[in-house]
Amino acid sequence: MNRNIECDVAVVGGGAAGIAAAIASSRTGAKTVLIERNPYFGGQATNSQVTAYCGFFTRGENYDQVVMGIGNEVLKKLEKLGTNIHPRPSKSTGNVSISFNPEHIKIVMDQMLEESSVEYYLHAQMYEVDNNNGLIEKIKCTDDEGTFTVKAKAFVDASGNANLVHFAGIKTNWGDDEGNVQQSSLPFRIDNIPAREILKSDIEAALKKAKEAGIPIRKETGLIIKVPTNTYGYCTIPSTIVPDLSAETLTKTEMDLRSQVHSYVEAFQKYLDGFQNMVISSSGPAVGIREARRIIGDKMLKGEEIILAPKSDDSIARGAWSPEMHKSNTSIKYTHIPDNEYFSIPLGCLKVRDAKNLWAAGRTISTDSLALGSVRVMGTGFATGQAAGVAAALTLQNENYDVKKVQEELLKQGALI
Ligand SMILES: Cc1cc2nc3c(=O)[nH]c(=O)nc-3n(C[C@H](O)[C@H](O)[C@H](O)COP(=O)(O)OP(=O)(O)OC[C@H]3O[C@@H](n4cnc5c(N)ncnc54)[C@H](O)[C@@H]3O)c2cc1C
Repeated sequence: MNRNIECDVAVVGGGAAGIAAAIASSRTGAKTVLIERNPYFGGQATNSQVTAYCGFFTRGENYDQVVMGIGNEVLKKLEKLGTNIHPRPSKSTGNVSISFNPEHIKIVMDQMLEESSVEYYLHAQMYEVDNNNGLIEKIKCTDDEGTFTVKAKAFVDASGNANLVHFAGIKTNWGDDEGNVQQSSLPFRIDNIPAREILKSDIEAALKKAKEAGIPIRKETGLIIKVPTNTYGYCTIPSTIVPDLSAETLTKTEMDLRSQVHSYVEAFQKYLDGFQNMVISSSGPAVGIREARRIIGDKMLKGEEIILAPKSDDSIARGAWSPEMHKSNTSIKYTHIPDNEYFSIPLGCLKVRDAKNLWAAGRTISTDSLALGSVRVMGTGFATGQAAGVAAALTLQNENYDVKKVQEELLKQGALI
């Protein structure tokens, strides 16, 4: 492996947003490198067992698909592996999503990259960024052989936590006006459970009984993500607030939530109908972070505005997930976008304001805390990723971007804007 890589566009993070960004950039004609620190791609879908793609569809009975392009190609590949990609409105929430097995995501992401001309690396962690007065020149990465550099003309931060922007010394936002973030959660897989949809109301009733009996569970509401006919599912309930991303904080968080997971196992086995013989198969691997750093972009999406489903001329993607806030142990708050509606995501929300050649995608884009509750979902992440990849490839080191050109290329690539 060349330890001094040079390319046109470098993407950090191989989740929904980063995969789409890298493939879109290469399809636009740019020599593209993708860096991922995990041993597999997929982001939180694989590394935190977040096993439903939300944001592909509008809400309501007559839902429409609002994300096509690379995200839709991922769905088609999942279908080939046997995943039922027919969207399923939840009986508990009315939201429309597609559930999957994370092992299928690992393979599908490999296939997507193998069929592209992206140069990609797993086991590669970016740890330093060279920022020359707003021009990002190169990133430094580490693997078990030592260090290597990736020099590029433009960069996409798809790290989920805006790590590239942060390591470049550029200011980011954290949480709401008071600095409060949504809860993070450690999902775990359970097997040998009933082949039906598990209603949120039944989970809540069981957790209430468990709490009264002294089982030390913290959060009393949440979901078990599953396909109704399957006898396994993924519980996303064990939660806490992650106040920063230091190793010290995340060590305490992982250990605390692992202990919570085992309390939920006991609670379900004792109090949830049909779960008596349930077994736990796995947790994590890592805590799933709902909200951390967000970039400060040329534009910012605001929650109060997106729930009115605005459309704009500089749109590069459509968001349709109703802002979903996990801030309390007793309720999940949705602020609903009207049924079968979507809002525009302007290109300026992806461009890092204080850098010339740096773009963001996925849950790091420029929003307030409420709007992040919508755009963070992975369906929307594929769409903002595809747009960031195209924008980075078309502009390279040119600070001025041409929205029309980005839109034209996205339409050519089959995306909806
Ligand atoms: C508990 C929970 C439940 C959720 N439920 C849903 C749901 O049902 N449906 C849904 O669509 N969304 C859901 N979400 C939201 C969704 O999972 C995330 O917002 C989404 O994964 C963000 O995608 P992303 O590509 O922006 O980032 P991520 O998925 O976080 O991917 C970022 C990638 O960047 C890599 N990376 C970071 N830093 C570096 C570095 N320095 N060097 C190299 N690589 C790096 C990471 O390893 C990771 O693979 C949930 C989130 C949580 C936490």
